[in-house]
Amino acid sequence: MNIVIFGPPGAGKGTQSKFIAEKFNMYQLSTGDILRKEMSKNTEIGKKISSVINTGSLVSDQIVSDMIEKVISNNDYHNKIIFDGYPRNLIQAKNLENLLKKYKQKISIVLKLSVSLETVKKRISERKSLEKRTDDDKDIAIKRYKTYENSTEPVIEYYKKLNLLKVIDGENSIDQINKEISDIISSI
Ligand code: AMP
Repeated sequence: MNIVIFGPPGAGKGTQSKFIAEKFNMYQLSTGDILRKEMSKNTEIGKKISSVINTGSLVSDQIVSDMIEKVISNNDYHNKIIFDGYPRNLIQAKNLENLLKKYKQKISIVLKLSVSLETVKKRISERKSLEKRTDDDKDIAIKRYKTYENSTEPVIEYYKKLNLLKVIDGENSIDQINKEISDIISSI
C-alpha cells in the first residue's frame, strides 16, 4: 500500500504522515524535509533551491523526481511509502505514475486534509516560533497557499477522477484526524 497525502501549508500533513508511518509501519517520504536538509547542509542542491523555497514557489521537477526515485527504487520501502509533499503539480503526478509502474507499485489511497486560509495563517504563525522554518513567514505562507491552489489542486482533481480520493476535515483536532485516517487505511 502506498499513500499520497495532500493539504495546504499548515494542514498537518507532516504530523499525520509521521503518525501513519509509525502505526502502519510505512516510510514517510517528505520532499519538503529532504529539501530542508539539503539547505541546512548547504549542499550544491541546497544553495540552488533556498531562494525558490523562501519565495513559496516549487523547486524544479527534476530535482524532486531524482529524490523520490531513490526511495521508490529501494526494496525496503516497496509499497510502504507515504508521499508527503509529492506530487505538487500535474507533471509530477505523471512522473509518479511512471515511476510506480517502473518499480511495480501503485497508489492505494489519496488523502486530502482540507483547511481554510484563515487556519493556515494561524497555524503557520504558531509553528514559526516552534520550528523556525525560513518559509513560515506570513507572506510566504500565503504565497505557498496560492501555489497549492494553482498547481496542486488540479492534481487532487486528477486523483478524484481515479476514485482514490478521501477528503478529511483538517480543522478537527489532531487526534480526531488520526482516528479518521486510521479507519480509512484499516478498511483498505
Ligand atoms: P513542505 O514541507 O511540503 O511544505 O514543502 C516546503 C517547500 O519545499 C515547498 O513550498 C516547495 O518550495 C518545496 N517543495 C516540497 N515538495 C516539493 C515538490 N514536490 N516539488 C517542488 N517543490 C517542493
